[in-house]
Amino acid sequence: MKQGQFTPNAVTDDDKLRESCGVIGIFLQNGEDMAARLGYYGLYSLQHRGQESAGISVSDGTEITTHKGMGLVSEVFNEEKLNSIKGRIAVGHVLYSTSGKAYIENAQPFVIHFKLGNLAVAHNGSLVNTGVLKELLEETGSTFSSSSDSEVIIKLIAKNYKKGLERALTDTIQMIKGSFALAVMTENTLIGVRDPNGIRPLCLGKLENGWVIASESCAIDAIGGELVRDIEPGEIVIINDDGVLSFEFGERTAKKTCIFEYVYFARPDSILDGIAVQEARLRMGAILARESAVPADVVIGVPDSGLGAAMGFSAAVGIPYAMGIVKNKYIGRTFIAPSQEQRENLVFVKLNAMKSDINGKRVIIIDDSIVRGTTSRRLIQILRRAGAKEVHFRISSPPVKFSCYFGIDTPCRSELISSSHDEQEICKAIGADSLAFISIKGMLEALGGVAEQVSCEKNRDGQDGYCQGCFTGEYPMPSPGEIVSRRL
Ligand code: AMP
Repeated sequence: MKQGQFTPNAVTDDDKLRESCGVIGIFLQNGEDMAARLGYYGLYSLQHRGQESAGISVSDGTEITTHKGMGLVSEVFNEEKLNSIKGRIAVGHVLYSTSGKAYIENAQPFVIHFKLGNLAVAHNGSLVNTGVLKELLEETGSTFSSSSDSEVIIKLIAKNYKKGLERALTDTIQMIKGSFALAVMTENTLIGVRDPNGIRPLCLGKLENGWVIASESCAIDAIGGELVRDIEPGEIVIINDDGVLSFEFGERTAKKTCIFEYVYFARPDSILDGIAVQEARLRMGAILARESAVPADVVIGVPDSGLGAAMGFSAAVGIPYAMGIVKNKYIGRTFIAPSQEQRENLVFVKLNAMKSDINGKRVIIIDDSIVRGTTSRRLIQILRRAGAKEVHFRISSPPVKFSCYFGIDTPCRSELISSSHDEQEICKAIGADSLAFISIKGMLEALGGVAEQVSCEKNRDGQDGYCQGCFTGEYPMPSPGEIVSRRL
């Protein structure tokens, strides 16, 4: 079987919701002690990457102190807490997980205090060989306090630490398989690591008085830093008082950045791997228009991640763009909806139509993705109630047919409406007058078009590109199901 090819047989109990997160690391010059505060502002800008828990570890040069808790950054930290964790190096984390996995033991950073020193690790991504590594570690006496694969990473680094920090890192990284963007800290060093495929993003920024590493550049902007560059797939960046040292930790493999970061996950003002997210979304909208325009009176987008594509679509076809839908900004993690029906009704509380934009009009509505189909079905009801004459749904990503194993939270395949229904069936199920998704080719064109200087050349030779596993079922490496079957 081709490496990374997904087959229906590979779907196992592992085909479940995954977590995705945001990480930040701050290194300030000697004499400074505000790393935790800068980390806090950075995490605030990464809040969209995870709302379940937040945490910051800080080093004052000799000791690492951590504060973490469940909830939003604003709920976990207050002035008193921030003042109590002073130091010049910090790593921070926001966790996105399903309710079942959302408990304090999984909150990050993970910290280890051991004979040779102290370590804190914040991880964004998902490992596919956690089970095997956990068994190995347990056989040699390690114990685990969480169900998080990230804990495996810190235990492996600690285990290898007697070889020195650099060797410990490279040895660990060569053992772990999957997606990982890491912010690691010792008492006097900050380290950024990106997996060999670069699935999850990680970038490096310069501060007036130090350095920052972050999942997205919007966090660097928020703390007054300047984006220097993306950390390359397979690169380790070590920052200490001697400066910034960079090295690759293995053979260079093909870059396979997660395409869903550009579709949905990343903030529109971020620049990932040289591509401005909003620009990519505008182009996705324009290409979607080229592929599937229909006569209409108004183009609207589903806030927030559908707005860029809607603007691009509107500009390409010359149909006016309108606000159309208002999103309630205060619906968050804590909204209580225990039953499926209540969860479905959540869309009515979260989104509402602007009647003046919609009434009596033929509406083209753009969203970034259809996952279960709940949002689109409810939105069409909302638009019809507001007097829409026709509703044409357009989606700026291809159908999501497969689960993600590398950090995006997608439900099991049976819940993905596109895994078992074609476009016409989905159109009927959601009650639209017409439905179209962007093609995979169109989507890649959208990303290539704004990345001439960075990845276009590499894309052309068929090597570097994007992980499109959720659309195609082809992953950059075997999924956990395949790894388990091979072991049996
Ligand atoms: P659904 O209602 O299940 O079809 O979900 C589609 C909506 O969820 C779209 O409006 C997307 O913007 C949004 N979405 C897509 N991926 C995710 C994700 N991983 N987590 C939360 N929301 C998502």
